[in-house]
Amino acid sequence: GPAPVARVVGAGAPVPLDDGRHVPYANLDYAASAPCLEAVQEAITRALPYYSSVHRGAGYASQVTTDAYEKARETVRGFLGAWQRAAVVFTRNTTDAMNLLAHAVPAGTTVVVFETEHHASLLPWRRAVRLPAPATPAEAISAADRALAGSPGGPRLLVVTAASNVTGELWPIRELADVAHRHGARIAVDAAQLVPHRPLDMAGLCLDYVAFSGHKLYAPFGAGVLAGRADWLRAAPPYLKGGGASASVSGHGDTTRWAPGAEQRHEAGTPNVLGVIALAAACETLATRWDALAEREEHLLARLRSGLAAIPGVRELTLWGGRGPRVGIVSFVVDGWSARDVALTLSGEHGIGVRDGKFCAHPFVRHLLDVSGAGCSGGEGTAVRASFGIGTADEHIDRLLAALARLAVAR
Ligand code: PMP
Repeated sequence: GPAPVARVVGAGAPVPLDDGRHVPYANLDYAASAPCLEAVQEAITRALPYYSSVHRGAGYASQVTTDAYEKARETVRGFLGAWQRAAVVFTRNTTDAMNLLAHAVPAGTTVVVFETEHHASLLPWRRAVRLPAPATPAEAISAADRALAGSPGGPRLLVVTAASNVTGELWPIRELADVAHRHGARIAVDAAQLVPHRPLDMAGLCLDYVAFSGHKLYAPFGAGVLAGRADWLRAAPPYLKGGGASASVSGHGDTTRWAPGAEQRHEAGTPNVLGVIALAAACETLATRWDALAEREEHLLARLRSGLAAIPGVRELTLWGGRGPRVGIVSFVVDGWSARDVALTLSGEHGIGVRDGKFCAHPFVRHLLDVSGAGCSGGEGTAVRASFGIGTADEHIDRLLAALARLAVAR
C-alpha cells in the first residue's frame, strides 16, 4: 500500500496477549482517540522550557507562551478555513464546544438535530426538534428543509455531524448549510471525525460554527475548539466566570464588566496552553498531507470493507450503504457473537484494539441494528467499531480480518 504520511508516537509498541506472548499493537480505535504525531510530541517538547501562564505575565516565558497560544488560534483559523473575524474559542473538547454553543444561543432558539448525532451534539440543547435517521443524504436535506420551514420564529440552529463516528459516512454539510441559510437559520457542524481525515473549508461552505477535539486529531487530551460567528458568543454571559473573562470588577462586588471578545469571555481560568500548542501542531502537519492521507485511507478502507464482506456472518452497519464518501471508520456485528466478546477476543488473542458498544450514539446504533436485521443477533444493541488513521498498516487490517474469519467459523 501507499507509504505512511507521517509518524505517530508508540506505533508498533508491544502488547501482551492472554497466553503471555507479546505482539505489536494493532490500534484500530483512532475514532476514540488518535495517537500523537511525532511532530506534536516535538512541539510540546519545544514549548516546555518556556511553559508559563498566558496573557497576564510580563516575564519572557509568559510572553513566549502567550505568543504561541495566540499563534495557535491563527493556525486553527487557517486549518478550518474560517473567515478572518471568526471567533476561535479553545475548549476542552467537542462536548465542551457544543455545550458552550448551547449556552450562548439566544433564549428561545430552536435547534434542529438528527437522532443520528453523537450525544455531544444531540443532548446539550434546551429546545430541540429531533429528526429521525434519514434513508438517504437527499432525505436528510429535505427533512432539514421541512423542519426549518415548520419551526417557530426566532433564532434557529441546525446541528449536524460532518462525518459519522459510527459509520464513517459523510453528511452533505454544504447542502444542509444552504438549507439552513435559506430559512434564516444557522448551522453548527460537529467535525470531530472529519478533520482527522479531510480538510474543511468553513468559509467556503458557509458554516456558522464548527467544533472538534484535539485528541482525535493526533494531539493529547484536553484541548478542543468552537469556531464561528462571534455575535451570540459576545452577547452571552461567560461560560465560566472568573479571571480572564472579566474586564473589570468593582471592590463592592456589584459591578463586573465581562471581557467583550468572544474568546476572552469564554476562556476563563488558566488555559490548556500545551494542549492548544499540540493541537495547532497537529493542524499544521495534517494541512500539508491531505492528498496522501486520502489516498492511503481509500486503500485501507477498500481492504477492510472487501475483507469484511467476504466473511460469512459479519455485517457492516451503514446508514446509506457505505458507498458514498466516508472516512476510516467501519462498524459491524458478527452473528452469534456479542460485540463485547468480539472486542475482547480481538484484544486478548490478537493484540487488536477496537471499540464495542453504542459509541455515545444510542438512538443511531439502535436504528442501524434495526434496519440491518442484526438487532437480535445476541449483541444486546451494541456493535464493534474499527477505525484507523495515520499509523495504520495493511498488516493491522489483515490481522483483524484473519481474526474475524476465525471467530466467524467458531460460532
Ligand atoms: N462528536 C463526534 C462525532 C465524536 O465522534 C465525538 C467523540 N467520540 C464527540 C463528538 C465528542 O468528542 P469529545 O469526547 O472529545 O468531547
